[in-house]
Amino acid sequence: MEKSPLPKRHCLVCGKEFYAKHGRQILCGSPECREKRRNLWLRKKRLHDKKYREERNAKLEAKILHILGKSCAICRKTVTQKHKRFHNKYFRRHPSGPDYVLKHIEEFVLVCWKCHQGLHFLHDILGMSWEQILSLKEKMLG
Ligand SMILES: [Zn+2]
Ligand SMILES: [Zn+2]
Ligand SMILES: [Zn+2]
Repeated sequence: MEKSPLPKRHCLVCGKEFYAKHGRQILCGSPECREKRRNLWLRKKRLHDKKYREERNAKLEAKILHILGKSCAICRKTVTQKHKRFHNKYFRRHPSGPDYVLKHIEEFVLVCWKCHQGLHFLHDILGMSWEQILSLKEKMLG
């Protein structure tokens, strides 16, 4: 019996016609095409990972904002997405990643970037604690 001819295909990268040696072959077999295809795949994967991370972070941030509210703990203004900072009341390290914030949520407050700068000035330069800063604020702003 005559063997059925190998299927003719077009390389997914260069478009050249080739005879597939097995059913799943999609590339012509040249090393350049293999390399290109690999790079494309890697880029797609990285993009996907980044998108996945962003979506996940957005969900976690929404959770954080639900708990901390949407206004600055110092000036009480509504904080926009761009200007929000999650600040650690005990001035412990505070990586901006939402995982860390959620895990230690009771230590965190939401502040605007301006107040955040002020907080760190009062703490880092003048050595004031969160409580001292709050009572100072109360005295000055009521
Ligand atoms: Zn090719
Ligand atoms: Zn503020
Ligand atoms: Zn801070």
